[in-house]
Amino acid sequence: MYRADYYEREGGGVRCKLCPHNCLINNGNYGICHVRKNIDGELISMNYGILSARNLDRIEKKPLYHFYPGRTIFSIGSVGCNLRCKYCQNHTIAQGDFSHVFERAGKTSPKTVVEQALRFMDDDNIGIAYTYNEPIIWYEYMRDIAVEAKKAGLKNVMVSNGYIEEGPLRELMEVIDAFSIDLKGYSEEFYKEITGSTLAPVKKTLEIIAKSNRHLEVEYLVIPGHNDDEVEFRKLMEWYRDRVGEGVPLHINRYFPQYRMTIDPTPVETLVKLFEIAREYVNHVYIGNVGLELGRDTICPGCGSRVIERRYEINYSGAVGGRCYRCGRELEGEGYE
Ligand code: SF4
Repeated sequence: MYRADYYEREGGGVRCKLCPHNCLINNGNYGICHVRKNIDGELISMNYGILSARNLDRIEKKPLYHFYPGRTIFSIGSVGCNLRCKYCQNHTIAQGDFSHVFERAGKTSPKTVVEQALRFMDDDNIGIAYTYNEPIIWYEYMRDIAVEAKKAGLKNVMVSNGYIEEGPLRELMEVIDAFSIDLKGYSEEFYKEITGSTLAPVKKTLEIIAKSNRHLEVEYLVIPGHNDDEVEFRKLMEWYRDRVGEGVPLHINRYFPQYRMTIDPTPVETLVKLFEIAREYVNHVYIGNVGLELGRDTICPGCGSRVIERRYEINYSGAVGGRCYRCGRELEGEGYE
């Protein structure tokens, strides 16, 4: 059993300080995430060492379009989540009671994960991505792997909802090289009703990472009737430009019915409209989960040249050395060849 970090004893229980839920957990109970448990006054990370998935993915699948484009990354996930999104895309590993998993699952040490990642170096692997379910709630395991990965010269990528307290986030930023963060909406009502959390901490996470030298890209899943209002989206974009930065790439993604949400998929016209609004504020905007030509390639903000083409293969020959082949403008991101 692995004792968790970031908690304090309080009354007869323990107060978890990892994410903004700040759960007060009595002996024998779990926090909201269903993976951190009070056992005799100690907070235990029950999913430490447990992997639900491991794959070699394209880095574009995270999605990161400006971080080592065209390369691959060894991607791992565990179980549980600190949010309750009604449309959860990975609910089989993210939502529910995992106590049966904790009893039976084998454990993989951080060193073994790194050894597995290193086996893929001939397949263009750049490192390890913490993804599939929410890695915040396997914080200690992710951090211990990331420390080992750094020693081995690997990159660390975190794909996250950003719902984390500032202290653990800053500790993590010492070893995570790139973040792909979900911004799920732009109202507290949306976050409360659809995700069971709050917006303000996610905005703070984005602002903290944006001010650092870590790579950041942001995802926005468009759910019809819930977060597709153009006036609200424009307010989001104003904040994004001012507090996150016009140079941080934004991915606008199409929603499909999943888990407890049954409304129809996002109309393509809605994606196009929000894309056009976002382009007024952000240098690089993409449309995902739909086969559109619009919002697929990387266009140089300086001269309008197509510098990275994403078809079945990734053609990044127009971004040699991280600069536009035509006008020489430096492109956002890193890892260009
Ligand atoms: S990480 Fe889990 S236990 Fe800790 S505050 Fe968040 S939901 Fe609660």
